[in-house]
Amino acid sequence: MPLFEQAAFWRAAHSLQDLPQPTLPEIAFAGRSNAGKSSAINALARRRRLAFTSKTPGRTREIIFFAIADVGYLVDLPGYGYARVPDAVRVHWESTLGGYLQTRPSLRGLALIMDARHPMTELDRRMLDWFAPTGRPILVLLSKADKLGRVEARATLAAVSQDLSAWGAQCRALLFSSVDRRGVEATEAQLSEWLGVPPVAIDPGASAVNTPSGTGNRRGRRAVVVGGPPQPRLRAEQRAVSLGAKTKSPGLKGKARGQTP
Ligand code: GDP
Repeated sequence: MPLFEQAAFWRAAHSLQDLPQPTLPEIAFAGRSNAGKSSAINALARRRRLAFTSKTPGRTREIIFFAIADVGYLVDLPGYGYARVPDAVRVHWESTLGGYLQTRPSLRGLALIMDARHPMTELDRRMLDWFAPTGRPILVLLSKADKLGRVEARATLAAVSQDLSAWGAQCRALLFSSVDRRGVEATEAQLSEWLGVPPVAIDPGASAVNTPSGTGNRRGRRAVVVGGPPQPRLRAEQRAVSLGAKTKSPGLKGKARGQTP
């Protein structure tokens, strides 16, 4: 069974204190509101509504963990760039997400979703500025590629790839569409490598989707990471505090599960 088909909602965190123990590898999904992040997660999971999709951006205020069998998690971060978020809420999420992205020891990489028609916005660039210094890999998914003609799509990919090189060799871009599914397989291959497992190798019977954090997996099997740079050892609270003072973060916002700003 394809690895990401086994994704299942595990839990949501409202703050850094709510985060589960970092026992298994995690891959974060981030992007501007409405860029297609939820649709990308659903496309990977081959599910219609695993992640909540909406035409009304700006509602989710949670970090949502989807368990992938017993090998790791996809982590859906609140979208950013939505103007109608009160300042207090935005500041809370900037520091929460900053703390998560820059200090989470189990984070193996970032999937950054950008609308292929409007890629590399100022907030996307700030997100890259924020995460690239961790040395961890970034995969930019140029979503809604089905809305571009072939030539335009190719030119966009080339321009974004060129642009991304400024943030380091650990950044790459792919054309992606949750409608015609282009880029889905390549994304699965990359994310599986980050998780340290083959894209189709997991026995569903071994799944420990609802295992509480800290208990590991039922078979005592750990995902072995074969890709990506060495992970820095960071002290979470320390970095999270200093981040608020020193780092400009994107105007983060989010959407989903019935939360109001
Ligand atoms: P999110 O806010 O980043 O999670 O974005 P959503 O996944 O909710 O998508 C926002 C809107 O874009 C929705 O109306 C989706 O149906 C649409 N959308 C998302 N991905 C694609 C895609 O690959 N192609 C097309 N044509 N529309 C998409």
